[in-house]
Amino acid sequence: EAFLDNIEAANGALNAYVAVTGDQAREMAKASDEKLAKGEAGALEGIPLGIKDLFATKGVHTQACSHILDGFKPAYESTVTANLWADGAVMLGKLNMDEFAMGSSNETSHYGNVINPFRKAGSNQDLVPGGSSGGSAAAVAARLCMGATATDTGGSIRQPAAFTGTVGIKPTYGRCSRWGTIAFASSLDQAGPITQTIRDSAIMLKSMASVDAKDTTSVDMPVPDYEKAIGKSVKGLKIGIPAEYRIDGMPSEIEELWQKGIQWLKDAGAEIVDITLPHTKYALPAYYIVAPAEASSNLARYDGVRYGLRVPGTDIADMYESTRAAGFGSEVQRRILIGTYVLSAGYYDAYYLKAQKVRSLIKRDFDLAWANGVDAILTPATPSAAFGIADQDMHSDPVKMYMQDVFTVTVNMAGLPGISVPAGCDKNGLPLGLQLIGKPFDEETLFQIGSVIE
Ligand code: GLN
Repeated sequence: EAFLDNIEAANGALNAYVAVTGDQAREMAKASDEKLAKGEAGALEGIPLGIKDLFATKGVHTQACSHILDGFKPAYESTVTANLWADGAVMLGKLNMDEFAMGSSNETSHYGNVINPFRKAGSNQDLVPGGSSGGSAAAVAARLCMGATATDTGGSIRQPAAFTGTVGIKPTYGRCSRWGTIAFASSLDQAGPITQTIRDSAIMLKSMASVDAKDTTSVDMPVPDYEKAIGKSVKGLKIGIPAEYRIDGMPSEIEELWQKGIQWLKDAGAEIVDITLPHTKYALPAYYIVAPAEASSNLARYDGVRYGLRVPGTDIADMYESTRAAGFGSEVQRRILIGTYVLSAGYYDAYYLKAQKVRSLIKRDFDLAWANGVDAILTPATPSAAFGIADQDMHSDPVKMYMQDVFTVTVNMAGLPGISVPAGCDKNGLPLGLQLIGKPFDEETLFQIGSVIE
């Protein structure tokens, strides 16, 4: 009830939730009470969570914040949310996001932008919460839920977490099932939690993760008790600092935060080593080929026949065209155009195939670091703090917005786990995050090191 009251009081201003499921929440909470009374509580019994609108929730608003999915209520539940409910969690509602998870500011949502609960000291200007999981991050930061599900294809968990002073982990590709999570770029998409603390993150990820026969890319490996890793000494761990992340034009505050993080880890007994990940600079351009290519294929299913919106036409082709023209926002249309272009017969080898080769090289850079004994890598999470809504500079060219992903996309391209941990503030009092990148399926080490930074 306290969280529903908070939502009632603050959601009008923040626009974090696009649907609130109060009645359902009360029913689930009642069932939790009964289980608690019988001593049968699950790991998340009675914990109220918000769910990103990308996860299919049975009978409940699931539209990826797109106009084209108007009115869609799935007949099935995503595996990740089913896992959470099985452990006793309670759903408060569905959270705002960039349309089909394409964006870094939550400004591409059909439901309007989300407002970051943080403002610059002494300023009235509204800031973005980051994206695409902007609703998830804002809701957690403003205490409109205890934790939220999110997804990360190129940074959509870690960048909004950094912008709102919350913890966001993208686990290893395959750790969580993608079944029932609306697809953006299937070879990059992963679900993960956004929470207030590292401990909450560890608890929630354990619950979300599972192998699943319905997603053949989910991996059959035991899910460790991540909570046990928290507070464990980092003495002797080797932490890599990649030279290539020191990019041109990086604000001095970000560089200083990175140096502080290095010092904290040194003080805690970790060994800091300089490393090189030479193909880093190709990650962003390669991502913006691979992700739109997969998106153009995944989004072909929205045709006005099977789901949501239908705009009538003179014949079926005209109906497809009118529905897709009206139903997709401009960023989604841009991605479909880029994607179909790079996949077209004449350009496939020059763009898509080449980007896939670059992807192998990026992965090899990381493999080499691990082979040299590096246990984890420390970088900034974002190249800036939260920026203003409708910021003219950010919108002058789509590539400006794509630059937000410069530190995060390599992790998705290589399938690795990455966490953003709140690490300080800029001179205006806005939160900043540091990112830790780990070996495949070694989320434990990220929680262990993250708890030193937190
Ligand atoms: N900002 C990136 C994009 O727009 C990443 C989005 C995501 O991780 N879902 O593609």
